[in-house]
Amino acid sequence: MGNQLLESPNKQLNLTGEESHMNLRFEDIAVDGYEKVVKVTESSSGLVAIIAIHNTVLGPALGGTRIQPYATFEAALEDALRLSKGMTYKSAIAEVGFGGGKSVIIADPKTQKTRELLRAFGAAVEKLNGAYICAEDMGCTTEDVKTIRQMTKYVVGLPHEKSSGDPGPFTAWGTLRGIQSVVKQLYSSESLEGKKIAVQGLGNVGSCLIDHLFWAGAELILSDIDPVRLQKYAAKYHAKTAPIDQILKVECDVLVPCAAGGIINDQTIPELRCKAIAGCSNNQLLRDNHAQVLRDRGILYAPDFVINAGGLLNVAQELEEDGYKAKVARDKIHNIYDTLLAIYEIADKNNESTHEAALSLAEYRIKYSVGKRQVPPTFHHSAES
Ligand code: NAD
Repeated sequence: MGNQLLESPNKQLNLTGEESHMNLRFEDIAVDGYEKVVKVTESSSGLVAIIAIHNTVLGPALGGTRIQPYATFEAALEDALRLSKGMTYKSAIAEVGFGGGKSVIIADPKTQKTRELLRAFGAAVEKLNGAYICAEDMGCTTEDVKTIRQMTKYVVGLPHEKSSGDPGPFTAWGTLRGIQSVVKQLYSSESLEGKKIAVQGLGNVGSCLIDHLFWAGAELILSDIDPVRLQKYAAKYHAKTAPIDQILKVECDVLVPCAAGGIINDQTIPELRCKAIAGCSNNQLLRDNHAQVLRDRGILYAPDFVINAGGLLNVAQELEEDGYKAKVARDKIHNIYDTLLAIYEIADKNNESTHEAALSLAEYRIKYSVGKRQVPPTFHHSAES
C-alpha cells in the first residue's frame, strides 16, 4: 500500500474472547485501480460486508460504513467502489492527510443490525491494522460506531468528548458554504435572501441545513420520502413541498440533493429547472460525463466531493495529536466556499466542467503527494467511551 503510516494493533483493546469464537473470513476481490477490496463474512452474526480501500498515497483510508439491504452483492460492491474512490478525491481536496476507503454491510438497518453484526464488522476492521478507519454513514449511527469501537480503535465520530461525534451538522455547514458559493458565482453576492432553494432529503444533514437556509432568508421547497418528516419541517419553516418525483423538476435558483446518489443522469438532466446544483449527497452524477451535460445546459455544479467534505474535515480533526477541537474543524469547513470558487475559476479558464476541474486538482495532489500525512493518526478515544 502507498502509505506506511499505519498504527500498530491496539494493545489496550479488552476483547472478551468473543473474537476467537468468530468465524471471520476474508476474500480478496481484485479490482483495477484499487489497492485492496475485501469481502468479509462471519457466519454466527450473518455478517456480509465489503471493505474497499481505493488509495492510501496521502494517508490511511478513511470513510464511512454504509448499512443497506442491497439487492445483489454486485450492487453493494459497485457502491463500495464508487464511494471509496470518491473518498480519495474528497480527502485530497480537503488536505486531511487521509486516503479513500469505504465499507458496506449488506443488511437491513431496521431489522438486521444486531450488536453481534456490528462487533463482527469491528473485528474485521481491526484485522486490517489501521489501513482503513471507519465512521458512520447511511444506516449506521454514531451509537453503532460505539459498538464497532468495542472491537477496534480504527473508528472516528464517536458520541464522546474525545471524539468528534455526529459529522452531520458539520457537513450541513459546509454544504451551506457551497450553496453560498454557487449563489455568489451566479449573482455576484453570496446572500441567500429570497433565493428559491429546493432540498431533496431532510435527514441528518438536510434537516440541519434547512435551518441555516431558513435563517439566511431563503425560500424553501422541500421533499422527503418520509411524509411525516416532510410535513414536520414544512410546517416548522413555512416551506413549500414537492412530491419525490417532482423535486428535481422544481424551478429554483439552487437544487440541493441531500438523499441518494446517481440522481443526475440522462433522464433527469433535461427536466432540471435549476440554475445550480449544490448538495451533500455522495456520487450525485450517475457518470462523470454528466457534469459536461450540466455545463452545456448552463447549470453550475458544485462537485459533491468538495462541497460535502465538512463531515470528513470534522472527523479527521479528532485524529490530530493534540485532540479534537470543533472550532478548528469549523474554520476549515468555512473555507469550502473559497475552494469551490477557485474550482469554478479553473473550470472556466480550462473550458471544462467543474467536476473535471476538481478531479484534476485532486489527481495532481495525489500524484505529487501534496498534503501527505507526516505523522500517524492519534486515536484519543477508548472502547468504554
Ligand atoms: P440520512 O439517511 O440521514 O437522510 C437521507 C434523507 O433522504 C432521509 O430523510 C430520507 O427519508 C430521504 N430520502 C431518501 N430518498 C429520497 C428521495 N428519493 N427523495 C427525497 N428524500 C429521500 O442521510 P444523511 O446523513 O443526511 O446524508 C445524506 C446524503 O449526504 C447521503 O448521500 C450521504 O452519503 C451524504 N453525506 C452525508 C454526510 C454526513 O455527514 N452525514 C457526509 C457526506 C456525505
